[in-house]
Amino acid sequence: MLCKIGDVEVWRILEINAPFLTPEELFPTAGPDVAKIVESHVKGGVCRQSGRIILPVQGFLLKTPSHNILVDSCVGNDKTNATMADWNMRSDTRFMAALTAAGVSTEEIDYVLCTHLHPDHVGWNTRLEDGRWVPTFPNARYLMPAADEEVQRSRNADLYVESVLPVIAAGQAELVEAGHMLGDHVTLMPTPGHTHGHVCIKVKSGDHEAVITGDAMHSTVQCWYPQWHFKFDTDAEMAVASRRRLLEEASESGCIVVGSHFLLPSLGHVRSDKGSFRWEE
Ligand SMILES: [Zn+2]
Repeated sequence: MLCKIGDVEVWRILEINAPFLTPEELFPTAGPDVAKIVESHVKGGVCRQSGRIILPVQGFLLKTPSHNILVDSCVGNDKTNATMADWNMRSDTRFMAALTAAGVSTEEIDYVLCTHLHPDHVGWNTRLEDGRWVPTFPNARYLMPAADEEVQRSRNADLYVESVLPVIAAGQAELVEAGHMLGDHVTLMPTPGHTHGHVCIKVKSGDHEAVITGDAMHSTVQCWYPQWHFKFDTDAEMAVASRRRLLEEASESGCIVVGSHFLLPSLGHVRSDKGSFRWEE
């Protein structure tokens, strides 16, 4: 178990922990010293051999007193990805093994919550069975941001056809707006910018609180530099505004912050610091 937030257990469901792209590629407006800055703020965050940022891809299982909720379903197996070779046609058991180790079967997942509809967050939504895409979690309701579904539907690319449409066709999808509440403990927090419908996930139980960032942030270095644009943000300025709001809220509440792509252990606190913020594990 990663941590416990009051009555809610949080389990890490790790699929990939590997170098991704260089700091210069990921943060194109951060200036020529970006690699040095990342290295000085995130110890071990840049792979020495490749010079690329280490980017875990992981989901989180929330075990509330009433439900098993999977937040983000990573890259998945057999998925088509024309731009990211490491994410194309994977055949890997790590994600499913992590779910088993957390003590749940695919049948026992009650909800799948997608922070947004990008390939590293929706992959295990479905799996191939006899050449057909079927929902991996047969008894789950899948909650997806309505704004993202609309964008992906209009593109009708591999991601939609392989990882979203089969869930809708099976009648298991619920397209939701930000602010949506799921049971007593989980709220979808609007953080548009990375995608139009992007949400962070707030977990609250008694006096205890945590937030799962999704892709509102990708590295703890963005606590110090929230204004850095991220390569894959749909609306970079809107993403900066959402990131600042997230950092303000997290530093004011003192809640636990769980970073979907943060270097392991991906868990800590945001503190306000001289007009900006810092990260504390
Ligand atoms: Zn992502």
